[in-house]
Amino acid sequence: MLAVFYYDGRSSRRQAAALSLSHGQVLVSGDWGQRRATLDEVKISEPMGTAPRTLRFADGAFCEIADTPGLAALLAAAGHREAVSVRMHQRWSIALGALAATLAVVVAAYLWLLPAAADYLAPRLPGTLVAQMSDAALASLDQHMLEPSALPPQREVEISRRMAAFAAQGGLPAYRLHFRATPAGIPPNAFALPAGDIVIFDALLKELSDDEAIAVFAHELDHVAHHHGLRMLIQGTVISTLAALYLGDISSLVAALSTAALQANYSQGFESEADLYAAQALKRSGRSPLLLASALEKLEAGALKQGQRKNKTQEGHEEEGWFERHLSSHPSIAQRSAAIKALAD
Ligand SMILES: [Zn+2]
Repeated sequence: MLAVFYYDGRSSRRQAAALSLSHGQVLVSGDWGQRRATLDEVKISEPMGTAPRTLRFADGAFCEIADTPGLAALLAAAGHREAVSVRMHQRWSIALGALAATLAVVVAAYLWLLPAAADYLAPRLPGTLVAQMSDAALASLDQHMLEPSALPPQREVEISRRMAAFAAQGGLPAYRLHFRATPAGIPPNAFALPAGDIVIFDALLKELSDDEAIAVFAHELDHVAHHHGLRMLIQGTVISTLAALYLGDISSLVAALSTAALQANYSQGFESEADLYAAQALKRSGRSPLLLASALEKLEAGALKQGQRKNKTQEGHEEEGWFERHLSSHPSIAQRSAAIKALAD
């Protein structure tokens, strides 16, 4: 039995009553008398959160039931099933609401919180940890992929001297230059590790003029100066970064860093920032920012050649190669060189 209020449907008078259900029969009784009907003859309102529900007789009289869990229990005990639409509606709206809320939190975290956390953390990581990670990443790349440079020693000295002279203008982060060769199939390139290690491939120095190589060097130095590598790394591996900081085990980070550094998967924003910075540094050193645009175009042509060669040797078995992935996640070189040319004016 459930305590309810009964309205006779003719007046607004509210009367105390007791509601019970048995054998498909509804019985409402009080001091005013009693009403009977079968469950099929009454209309029970749909549940709406915690709002009172009504049980309405055919002649307009109705009961107001505040104890909705009690009513649900009575109905369930009587073997009455809520209309399918009601149950579906309740479950779906709860499920959809929860899903939407979860998605909103995840998207917000991904779009704002994670980059903000990465921006905050990157410059604050202990220098020794960053150095340790960079050293380990370079060692791992040396072991698995990179080859010793075949440049004549005097050429290395010459390039190092030119880059040191360029960096002497100030405002640039500390760096260490590394010369490496690569197996066939790897496009001419240069990349930066977070501690300031700039790795330059022999093929890049072959394809570019020395001044163009300096333009690329300036661009890579900006990735270091603004912690682009670390920021991407933290965003991409937030869980392992936290685990690494907590456990002091950086092996998973090193693995992520070595692939990320090589693929240079910086966001469009980071690339534009590095381009801008490099263009300014080139201007300060009395060089034209156009050197960077021509370097990018030559490197792209070199990557394209390698990409085609690679696709040919694999006879199209690999539908998406390194080059395509690289292109899809990168701002187009045409866009970037147009922006650099605009800066040069
Ligand atoms: Zn870059």
